[in-house]
Amino acid sequence: AKAAGGNRYELADADSDARAIARHDLTNCLPAALDNGEFFIEYQPLVRLHDGTVRGAEALVRWLHPVHGVLGPDQFIPLAESTGLIVPLGRWVLQEAARQARAWRAEGTCEGPMRVNVNLSPSQLRHPSLVADTVAVLDSSGLDPSALCLEVTENALIGADEEELRPLRQLADLGVDIALDDFGTGYSNLSYLRRLPVSTLKLDRSFTRGMQRAPADPVDVKIVEGIVSLAHTLDLSVTVEGVETGTQAEHLRVLGCDTAQGWYYARPGPPERLHTLSLVDAAS
Ligand code: C2E
Ligand code: CA
Ligand code: CA
Ligand code: CA
Repeated sequence: AKAAGGNRYELADADSDARAIARHDLTNCLPAALDNGEFFIEYQPLVRLHDGTVRGAEALVRWLHPVHGVLGPDQFIPLAESTGLIVPLGRWVLQEAARQARAWRAEGTCEGPMRVNVNLSPSQLRHPSLVADTVAVLDSSGLDPSALCLEVTENALIGADEEELRPLRQLADLGVDIALDDFGTGYSNLSYLRRLPVSTLKLDRSFTRGMQRAPADPVDVKIVEGIVSLAHTLDLSVTVEGVETGTQAEHLRVLGCDTAQGWYYARPGPPERLHTLSLVDAAS
């Protein structure tokens, strides 16, 4: 029942339709949608730049709306966030992604231990049961904490004090990886980075757009160079998102970025895709 056409993972049509969909209409049917099982997850591989192997995948939620068809997260996550539904929805995504990652591991889907990245919204971060919920999901799925990466946006953490960071620190101490998502789009000062319990910077795609074609934008190259060097000094790994061309991937590899994600490798797709995905094929 996913969108028809050449690329069944394309959400562009849903995007333009959604402008016409009234906000309150979607908000009203959100709670029932969770009960009715209308949400599903697509996975987009994360690739090690030095050898092109798959190290994991990011879970990206979609809503198969009975009337409007497939809606992307930008169309309903803000509504779920403002109504509080994001907490049960986020819990479901975490549970489902952990189950999936455990299954991939059991099946030996990729070389080395397969990992899964899950996005956390600001309300989930502030929710008192975050640590307990996550531990419960790890227990019930049997997934190793090191196989889970929680992505938190830079903006969600700006201004957070030690008390507010404690749940994330507890999760990091358990071995869960924490990634700072959309890095560079907020205005956190860099010294603040040292205080955060994060192990990965996820560089926003706006920084690498200028490398899609040769010659690369020299300012973008300098900026990424600086970020990689800072990140590695702080023992953080660097993931770049929105990699759309081979030229870009090669630039980022040479600049020392660790992991990449983007259409060049694969669009988000159903979990089975991770089995058949040959990145050598995808990239040629
Ligand atoms: P994000 O975490 O920054 O996720 C990356 C977005 O970039 C995804 O959009 C992905 O499909 C898109 N993308 C991936 N590769 C490329 C590329 O090469 N080029 C371009 N132009 N775009 C690319 P998507 O799936 O629409 O998700 C949008 C946002 O929704 C995510 O941004 C994330 O912030 C949020 N989101 C998705 N799933 C969840 C979830 O389960 N919980 C929460 N709280 N937020 C979620
Ligand atoms: Ca993300
Ligand atoms: Ca991001
Ligand atoms: Ca983003």
